[in-house]
Amino acid sequence: MCGIVGYVGERRAAPVILDGLRRLEYRGYDSAGLAVIDQDELRLVRRVGFVAALAAAVPADLPGSTGIGHTRWATHGGVTEDNAHPHLDSTNRIAVVHNGIIENHMPLRARLQDEGVVFRSETDTEVLAHLISIFYKADSTAGPEAAVRQALELVQGTYGVAVIFLDHPGLIIAARNGSPLVVGKGNGETFLASDPHALSAHTREVVYLEDRDIVRIDASGWTISRMDGGGVSRAVEVLGEEWQDEGRGDYSHHMLKEIHEQPESLARCLRGRVVPDQGTARLGGFELSPRDIAAIRHLTVLGCGTSFHAGLVGAAAMEGLARIPASAEIASEYRYRNPVVAADDLYFAVSQSGETADTLGAVREVQVKGGRVFGVVNVVGSSIARTCGRGVYVHSGPEIAVASTKAFTSQVAAMLVAALSFARTRALGPHEGKAFGEELLSVPERVGEWLTAEPPGLMDAVELCTSGKFVFFLGRGVSHAVALEGALKLKEVAYVPCMAYPAAEMKHGPIALLDKRTPVVVVVPDDVMRDKTLSTIQEVRARGAQVIAIHTVGDDQTPKVADVCIPVPRSNPLISPLFSVLPLQLLAYRAGLALARDIDRPRNLAKSVTVE
Ligand code: GLU
Repeated sequence: MCGIVGYVGERRAAPVILDGLRRLEYRGYDSAGLAVIDQDELRLVRRVGFVAALAAAVPADLPGSTGIGHTRWATHGGVTEDNAHPHLDSTNRIAVVHNGIIENHMPLRARLQDEGVVFRSETDTEVLAHLISIFYKADSTAGPEAAVRQALELVQGTYGVAVIFLDHPGLIIAARNGSPLVVGKGNGETFLASDPHALSAHTREVVYLEDRDIVRIDASGWTISRMDGGGVSRAVEVLGEEWQDEGRGDYSHHMLKEIHEQPESLARCLRGRVVPDQGTARLGGFELSPRDIAAIRHLTVLGCGTSFHAGLVGAAAMEGLARIPASAEIASEYRYRNPVVAADDLYFAVSQSGETADTLGAVREVQVKGGRVFGVVNVVGSSIARTCGRGVYVHSGPEIAVASTKAFTSQVAAMLVAALSFARTRALGPHEGKAFGEELLSVPERVGEWLTAEPPGLMDAVELCTSGKFVFFLGRGVSHAVALEGALKLKEVAYVPCMAYPAAEMKHGPIALLDKRTPVVVVVPDDVMRDKTLSTIQEVRARGAQVIAIHTVGDDQTPKVADVCIPVPRSNPLISPLFSVLPLQLLAYRAGLALARDIDRPRNLAKSVTVE
């Protein structure tokens, strides 16, 4: 969602900015733009649609070695060229790009209009350009940084913001509050981005801004200070290797590539953490003693979307294996309901990007109330990882497709590792711990074997799901979480209307919707609940609906009642989501292809949801 790139140096800024914006495309956006300082003029180019459209519109020889660029994910105002960023002040001498939402933009806009300012867009962002301009004009001796600082003092909401001034070529002022920004160190040049991925071709040395930091950037470096005054120095960090992994290779889409990367991403997540000889697991980032683990009274897993679904599995594993009462909560709901937080409870914040605004907000709410939150995050150094301070990286590697696949399985695997380590203290003997640990370690290879050939039945399932009215997904326990995730994938990638229910809940209402044109995908592993779920399948079939069953290989009962069967490997029930989600990922992918969708960049979606 929404990206910022900035450049100050000797080179022409536009190609560097366009390259950075291309690297942020995977985050999802609807329009793009850039502004560079060209002697006595700010040159502004904006386009609706992809960065390629912007690149085609930018003159190949556009001069200017200071500039800012943006990919917008519209929050306020339609997807139009006028609403695309950068936004200029009325004098056309100041350009602003902004990620986030200015919540009090309406009164600010009204005040500015009363003072005669004419707005050229419907965005919340434009108020910033005008406010900065007013403060800059009122006291030009104070300089650009003071003007940005004063403008931001009037603003409520979230921002990552970057500003250039025609009067100050060679300077970018940037600030962050709730929306990430990172500065990259070059040789006689300095970079700015909302995501280090945008910078990895140019530099590996970066500095992450913290909330309420404001930074002054020129070609020779940067100076960071706090919004409320006083300098601050932030450590230069070196980007890890995994950000270099790029491209689709021989795959037609990133999503398919990422589905097939799961054997490696799962192996990376588990490596060095599971210690089967001792029947346990170790997570370096947790720093919890057995005594601490024994004292945990409740675990709450916070997340949104796919990460929430992974959290449901994590909570079930923690309760089932470690006997710690546990639940998963949708972070955006949790943060605003004034939750009760106890000091001996534990919280996990799950997020692929580590920038999910709703989850970050929930983390802060828990911390304000004295709770302990550990991050379960993919992107190293991201806001949630840094705000939590403790936690586990899931190491799935860069996930470029907007619809998450390998991050989901790595999140689940990381929480299964945590559950094993807690369980060894609280509930499991060494032999049971060893068996669970060994089985976990065997998962990557077995996932790899399963993925070598597309499963029988997949294309029949695709046909049913793309030709019906809508699709039901059913499952119980952790398989309900998988059903939710399968339905989300099919909505995201194929735009097929779906709903997911706990299997037994279907008869309490949604069954009224069933008929011949509503295929039902049932996740039915061969566990203690299988026969109950088979009864649900019978109820579905009695209403004329066709059933696609994701079942355990060797189960001879489920195929007798399902129309389409997709077998997955046998496993411990708590581990089964790592297998049963695979056919649902492929189903969404193939359905998206069949319906000619934009698989890697589905409409309206963003990869990293940095607004509330
Ligand atoms: N709220 C701003 C807008 O709608 C910024 C959106 C974004 O973060 O891309 O223009």
